[in-house]
Amino acid sequence: MYDAIVVGARCAGSPLGMLLARRGYRVLVVDRATFPSGTLSTHAFAGDACERLDRWGLLDKVLATEITHCKGLQMHVDGRLFEMAIPGPYPLIAPMRTILDKILVDAAREAGAEVREGFSVQELLRDSEGAVCGVRGQLATGAPVTEEARMVVGADGRNSFVAKALAVDEYNTLPARQIAYYSYWSGFKEADYIEFHFKTGFGAAMVFPTNDGLVCMGGGWPVSEFERVREDPEGHVLRQIAAFPAIAERAKDCKREDRLWGWSGYTSYYRKPFGPGWALVGDAGYLKDPTLGQGINDAFRDAEYLAEALDAGWSGREPLDEALAAYQKRRDTETGPIYALNDLMSQGPTPELLEFLLNAAQQMAQAK
Ligand SMILES: Cc1cc2nc3c(=O)[nH]c(=O)nc-3n(C[C@H](O)[C@H](O)[C@H](O)COP(=O)(O)OP(=O)(O)OC[C@H]3O[C@@H](n4cnc5c(N)ncnc54)[C@H](O)[C@@H]3O)c2cc1C
Repeated sequence: MYDAIVVGARCAGSPLGMLLARRGYRVLVVDRATFPSGTLSTHAFAGDACERLDRWGLLDKVLATEITHCKGLQMHVDGRLFEMAIPGPYPLIAPMRTILDKILVDAAREAGAEVREGFSVQELLRDSEGAVCGVRGQLATGAPVTEEARMVVGADGRNSFVAKALAVDEYNTLPARQIAYYSYWSGFKEADYIEFHFKTGFGAAMVFPTNDGLVCMGGGWPVSEFERVREDPEGHVLRQIAAFPAIAERAKDCKREDRLWGWSGYTSYYRKPFGPGWALVGDAGYLKDPTLGQGINDAFRDAEYLAEALDAGWSGREPLDEALAAYQKRRDTETGPIYALNDLMSQGPTPELLEFLLNAAQQMAQAK
């Protein structure tokens, strides 16, 4: 019998497992993937996400890899450049998920959580009162496994099995806005900034300097373009890059070093993140279009908030339900403004976005 079974071992699941294990709880973290492995996600973050990694003793491990410390964020909108330095002591970085997620999984193990890779959860167990009390699943060998816990946490991402099995309602939903394809490329010149390039009526391109001298480079289009773009994703990405003068020349000698990764867009949502015997964390509980790159930061923050709530409930400092309701409230309150801004950004260069960026640029100039 575990205190918690955490389904999913990436940005939300492994930090949650680590934080609970560090508090002395008995935790099982499972993932159907094995590590190191990639996943559909670019991976830029700064500020709070770095601060949490630092507090958890993991930032040095990420920075010890061959990684570019970006000078800041550049937004090119219809040829106008808006440059934003990242405030605070932490760098803006984009570690590959193969590297970042492995560091997180190892940290959960080192903290004392039991981590089982290649374990696919297929069913939630219920007690006589209907509360979730465990999982049934399968190992990569096909062997069935049953495990019990007083709390099952879905950290299983945007297609969360746990949330679907519990038919958890969504709220504040927003429609899918855009699609993208990206890959990893060598040979990109002067890769110092996280760069976004937007052109009205055309779409977007982005460049993230990452590990080992590579850039993560790709194109974005309105969601209505998916069928057209998927017919020739690489051709579309290269044409997209070539259409932006600020990057076309620097990308001229690029060589693709990985497969193309693509997504067809998805609805953004919040979900109530707890109920009898269960909780949700990371994308399973709160999903937004990836334009602003907030998902990793959100997963780290919510892992920390959920660990605090579970500890408050289990230690008897607060009724568990109240602690979990406070977890939901903190998450929703802190993410509200950026959820709206992210939706604005994901619609490309609208007049509202230009106005926002002009205001932000003026405020930064005044602050200097
Ligand atoms: C295209 C794209 C670009 C993005 N770019 C950025 C960015 O630049 N910056 C940023 O901060 N965020 C970005 N994000 C968002 C970020 O990827 C997510 O917010 C983050 O990965 C959420 O972490 P998670 O742990 O909740 O879920 P995930 O990382 O999706 O992990 C879920 C895990 O659960 C496992 N799992 C699922 N179901 C089961 C099951 N039944 N049994 C066992 N295991 C299971 C999966 O194998 C997976 O390993 C991007 C997302 C996308 C799609």
